[in-house]
Amino acid sequence: MHPEALPSLFTIAASNTLAQMAVGLVPLASLASAFSVTATWPWTPEKLPLLAVLEPVSEQPPTAADRKRAETMSATRRTTQSLRDGELAALTGEIATCRRCPRLVAWREQVAREKRAAYRDEEYWGRPVPGFGDPRARIAILGLAPAAHGANRTGRMFTGDRSGEFLYAALWRAGIASAPRSRSRDDGLRLSGAYITAAVRCAPPANRPAPDERDNCLGFARRELELLADVRVVLCLGAFAWDAALRILAPAARPRPSFAHGAELAGAPALLGSYHVSQQNTFTGRLTEAMLDRVLARARELAELPVTAPGPPRRRRR
Ligand code: SF4
Repeated sequence: MHPEALPSLFTIAASNTLAQMAVGLVPLASLASAFSVTATWPWTPEKLPLLAVLEPVSEQPPTAADRKRAETMSATRRTTQSLRDGELAALTGEIATCRRCPRLVAWREQVAREKRAAYRDEEYWGRPVPGFGDPRARIAILGLAPAAHGANRTGRMFTGDRSGEFLYAALWRAGIASAPRSRSRDDGLRLSGAYITAAVRCAPPANRPAPDERDNCLGFARRELELLADVRVVLCLGAFAWDAALRILAPAARPRPSFAHGAELAGAPALLGSYHVSQQNTFTGRLTEAMLDRVLARARELAELPVTAPGPPRRRRR
């Protein structure tokens, strides 16, 4: 018998037995041998609905056919996931080699050549920055674009600048990041339950991509979200990301939902807004640690990820 069939059969058995008991065909004592009774005593007609809490003393062990079916379903899930992982890896490679926007290609490469004095001995990434995180993520975090001397230098989203320090510390407190800092592509940092990406993948001058550059690039985030099939909420960092997420997920929404810190739009996935973690916001107190912690707690709630104590992520059961 398939395990899922047990509750309904059990309910029928319980109802039949109680109906017989009610007309005196079954002695009360026989119930004790059939069920573990956790409802209150004595029985009254009003309390009959409480039979939902009756539990069988023993369950039928799964048959060989049940086990075979479960194994087949689990193998299919694993195959689907590994196909998606492969496509996500291929997409990462495609993003990193894109040269579609001439202005942004010129800028990202110029910054990588000229460098900031503090990083003059480093080799800049100088290319589009792919997404980073857990392929089974339930939370997608969408930013604006890589920072010229942050992700454009290190090659990983929000890595190597003050914005990233603020974000990853919060992700660590939320039990999502394995460490409170993100320094380089090979620092061993892991995310559990979240994937970080951006609307535009090349560092734009003055952090302002042009509309055509945004439209050129949005297809990458769209494809990532399609491959991240478990995502239940997209956390948008700032109004640009909120607008980009609407263009991908709810292009027909009218009136157009406005961005605000804490704004939500129900859907599959849902959208959740937060002020961006830029220094402009964090240095001025517009976005505080407590505010970001609350937004992340809400994201976890919408994603149905259990709330955990601060620190390294716990292993999830697959
Ligand atoms: S912004 Fe996007 S579309 Fe434009 S060159 Fe960079 S990766 Fe390609």
